[in-house]
Amino acid sequence: MILTLKQNADPEEAKRELTRLGLWVTELQGAPAPQFVVHPHSRLVEKDDLLKIPAVASVAVNASKHPLLDNQPRTLKIGPTAIGAAVSPVLIAGPCSVESSEQIHSLAELLKPLGVTFLRGGAFKPRTSPYDFQGYREKALRWIRSAASAHGMGVVTEVLGAPEVELVAEFADLIQIGSRNMHNFALLQHVGKAGKPVLLKRGMAATVEEWFGAAEHCLANGVPAVVFCERGIRSFDPATRNVLDLGAVALLAHVHKLPVIVDPSHAAGRRDIIPALARGSLAAGAAGLMVEVHEDPGTALSDGPQALSIAEFRSVLTGQA
Ligand code: PEP
Ligand code: MN
Repeated sequence: MILTLKQNADPEEAKRELTRLGLWVTELQGAPAPQFVVHPHSRLVEKDDLLKIPAVASVAVNASKHPLLDNQPRTLKIGPTAIGAAVSPVLIAGPCSVESSEQIHSLAELLKPLGVTFLRGGAFKPRTSPYDFQGYREKALRWIRSAASAHGMGVVTEVLGAPEVELVAEFADLIQIGSRNMHNFALLQHVGKAGKPVLLKRGMAATVEEWFGAAEHCLANGVPAVVFCERGIRSFDPATRNVLDLGAVALLAHVHKLPVIVDPSHAAGRRDIIPALARGSLAAGAAGLMVEVHEDPGTALSDGPQALSIAEFRSVLTGQA
């Protein structure tokens, strides 16, 4: 239940009274009027019992489990860039991993004129094997920040664990929560403290409602804005790395009016079908694309098979691929 207090009510006193009734009470940060989400944890409490409390103005039963997300503006401002269905699609591109200062600077120089507003690149990499390249960590953060700033772009990079949140927040404009961490609630709580917007990738086996729950964790802990990123979900078929769920994209964009971008690179796992998936994503309502691009995909330290060369990426944008 969501309970709205009267304007002149004392929230602390109201909280004590509700707790005495056996309710678990959480204040909704950022709500337009003082509001509490209340859950009866020990006995049933009826709406009428709550309305008898003098401080209570109204009670919404069967309320949404993600009220902050529901109130998030349809178009988000991430620095100077607007992201949402009503504005032109945002382009995020760059290598899977930031591999050197020279690499990321030359990619930034080539990507900026193509309309890319955010440079992406991993500094902390979530690799299946501990023997694979794990990322150049802080060095990579410095390289990508300097390359992006030199070309007037923003930085999207992943935070892998709570100890690195502050460091990543220092360099990123949009902090990526990777698919493997969507359910890591301790990390989502921690990322709120950084006060930076989040790009929330869908867990590879997460339902849409679980994805929304993860977004609500971010917002309830201080994240100012959440952009969703569909990157494919697990299926039985290894023909593509994941299954790009365009149904979920359409649902978020058209039914829930939420900003969702698509990462066709991790969905496909192979470069040949990325142009088709990119076009399909925009047709389904995606507010943008995040694509892995590498100057020489054959030598990439991670995810080479799905990386596009600059020429291939350019042809995705011109519709010639
Ligand atoms: C990435 O974007 O580099 C990445 C690791 O993606 P995901 O979390 O979707 O696998
Ligand atoms: Mn990758």
